[in-house]
Amino acid sequence: MSGTLLMKVDDLHVSYGGIQAVKGISFEVFENEVVSLIGANGAGKSTTLKAVTGLQPIKSGSATYLGRAIGGQGAWNLVPQGLVMVPEGRGTFTRMSIEENLLMGAFIRKDADVDADIDKVFALFPRLKERRKQLAGTLSGGEQQMLAMGRALMSRPKLLLLDEPSMGLSPIMVDKIFEVVESIAKQGVTVLLVEQNASRALQLADRAYVMESGEITMKGDAKALLVDPKVRAAYLGE
Ligand code: ATP
Repeated sequence: MSGTLLMKVDDLHVSYGGIQAVKGISFEVFENEVVSLIGANGAGKSTTLKAVTGLQPIKSGSATYLGRAIGGQGAWNLVPQGLVMVPEGRGTFTRMSIEENLLMGAFIRKDADVDADIDKVFALFPRLKERRKQLAGTLSGGEQQMLAMGRALMSRPKLLLLDEPSMGLSPIMVDKIFEVVESIAKQGVTVLLVEQNASRALQLADRAYVMESGEITMKGDAKALLVDPKVRAAYLGE
């Protein structure tokens, strides 16, 4: 890979008490790539994202973003540096409206382009525009996912970490979410996409890593992994 190295994870170990959830994984994300981390339930994908954003302590190994160590610092410190996560379960402010949630995403910003950025989010997700005054807690799962992604975009991320954005959504909503991830990437945002939906993730990504029981067992060009018989047998139901 060429280009600027945004994130580097090296021999990362993460445990929950005696349970080793991540056992020495290493991966890299370069600017303008879509990189996907795929794997079954419990493989350690979410734990990896939690560790790099400081939500779960790193036991050993390292994670760097733009050459600086991360992991020990809270996720809120990373947002101004352009590293933003959309967590599994979305985490919107349920008692605030769509519009207020989007404004919360921009609260660290001091520039005057916030309104223009809200319009950009509404262009990506017209459904949110129609419902701008509706409380986030009353939105459907897919709409909440859109809102969580929109809110993350409001902080103008350089590297967006998406934790299972398609989880629990209808096929139509999954299509919409993947479409938007693709257009976000085309707009120059680098994406690290954690997904159980291996087929969709590999179709979208440039490169991918396959995680199994806390370890990376395969990695490479996403389109090559998509036709790899081992990947097809284990993750694509063949
Ligand atoms: P999923 O797609 O189901 O979220 P995942 O690949 O993201 O799977 P993780 O959520 O990272 O997997 O879980 C990795 C392992 O760590 C699993 O065995 C899980 O049971 C365990 N684990 C996750 N969170 C905790 C926790 N808070 N306490 C104890 N064990 C945990």
